[in-house]
Amino acid sequence: MGDALAPAAEDLRELRRSFAGAVIEPGDSGYEWVRRCFNAMIDRRPALIVRPMGAGDVATALAFARAQSLEVAVRGGGHNPSGHCVCDGGIVIDLSLMRRVEVDAERRIALSEGGATWLDFDTAVQAHGLATPGGVVGTTGVAGLTFGGGVGHLTAQHGLTCDSLVAAEVVTADGSLVRASADDDADLLWGLRGGGGNFGVGTLLEFRLYPVERVLGGRLVFTGDGVAEGLRRYRYLCAAGPRDLSFSAVLDRDPALGNLLVLLPCFTGSETEPQSLGALREIPGLIDERLRVHSFAAQQHVVNPTYGEDRAYWKGHFVRELPDELIDALIERMGAMERPPGQLLIESLHGAANDAHPDSSALGFRGAAFNLSAMGTWQDPALDDEYIAWTRETAAAMEPWSFTGGGYVNYMQADEPIERVRAAFGESFDRLQELKLRYDPDNFLHRNQNIPPG
Ligand SMILES: Cc1cc2nc3c(=O)[nH]c(=O)nc-3n(C[C@H](O)[C@H](O)[C@H](O)COP(=O)(O)OP(=O)(O)OC[C@H]3O[C@@H](n4cnc5c(N)ncnc54)[C@H](O)[C@@H]3O)c2cc1C
Repeated sequence: MGDALAPAAEDLRELRRSFAGAVIEPGDSGYEWVRRCFNAMIDRRPALIVRPMGAGDVATALAFARAQSLEVAVRGGGHNPSGHCVCDGGIVIDLSLMRRVEVDAERRIALSEGGATWLDFDTAVQAHGLATPGGVVGTTGVAGLTFGGGVGHLTAQHGLTCDSLVAAEVVTADGSLVRASADDDADLLWGLRGGGGNFGVGTLLEFRLYPVERVLGGRLVFTGDGVAEGLRRYRYLCAAGPRDLSFSAVLDRDPALGNLLVLLPCFTGSETEPQSLGALREIPGLIDERLRVHSFAAQQHVVNPTYGEDRAYWKGHFVRELPDELIDALIERMGAMERPPGQLLIESLHGAANDAHPDSSALGFRGAAFNLSAMGTWQDPALDDEYIAWTRETAAAMEPWSFTGGGYVNYMQADEPIERVRAAFGESFDRLQELKLRYDPDNFLHRNQNIPPG
């Protein structure tokens, strides 16, 4: 399908007549911007980009793609490292004109259009002192992240993002508008909680909200001996399983300073500063201390990477534990290249994320202690092989502690073998295949961590 010819001028005129949003061809303004992804390694040229204004436009775009035998890619925030959101020669359904977020503060519910980003979402809900556990970077798509799970600054308190998804409207591969909720189609809601973009294009997502105004958050950066000591302290704090502390850590490397550890706590308890968090300042090698009480909206800006500038190759494992041996191996991997290799992200899954009933979502990693991800990051295309090798070897070093054998679908590259995708979903995989057969029997929507109909 990727080799299909560009649509004829007459067919495009007809599409434009029936389409409320924008239709963009190569050379049109906006084409270069929309085909760009967070991952600069992705450089694809779709035959057509459409920017729908609503579910009707999405159905029109899907019908057009079928009639023209065009491959379909669905784009939210463009963040997925696999680059599934853009294809060569096909049609990109770019949802970035559908970013409205409505808040019902009394019912503590938010309705988020399919192309909203976390910045759109947080801005709308924080105006009411509310939040849902979302992604930590504002430009990430709400739907893309939610459909893959969702780990962030409120994971321990309120679970994964998909746990707070209470309903969704989806345009399925045949153009039907379907509502998924506990009452309408509980099976589809289950599949959307973790099964990715396999079942249709999400046009409206409904989330439960929680009161969250001020948090103790920010970041602390350590070097030297503080890297290993800080990681052990991090493990200790997470193991106690505090429900009011979400916590992640990043290993980084500076050409002059060597390894760095960045700790990213987000505490929502009643104490201004619990002793255990204040004591993080006593770890040796502290070079940057920004632990502070601020709004949750400010917390959502603590991590702010650039978009579309770096090449990225990610691979990782959910792990059962973080023993000294694994910590040492991770630290060693940070110095394995002549130059800084990128980052190693360690996300704790303690608290509400692991309390959720395993059958409430299609995820296969409930019960894992941490999500470990090697994130190779570079700019020179000549170094692709070197960085990809570093990432793969680093993921291999984690494997002995792997919980499922699979990685996190939200961070997976497009070259993951089906066994790793299957392992990521664990026992849910067969049920997901049945759901795929029901909603997309000919695998029309396959540019995702694909679940073949079965
Ligand atoms: C800088 C950065 C920060 C991140 N932070 C986090 C984080 O804090 N927590 C976390 O869990 N993950 C995080 N991620 C991973 C992110 O959740 C996934 O990559 C997710 O798929 C991105 O969604 P997107 O819409 O931005 O990306 P896109 O690349 O646009 O979309 C990815 C895929 O999602 C599907 N999709 C997107 N929107 C829809 C829709 N409306 N309907 C149906 N399918 C859709 C499509 O299959 C599409 O190919 C981050 C990634 C990056 C690059």
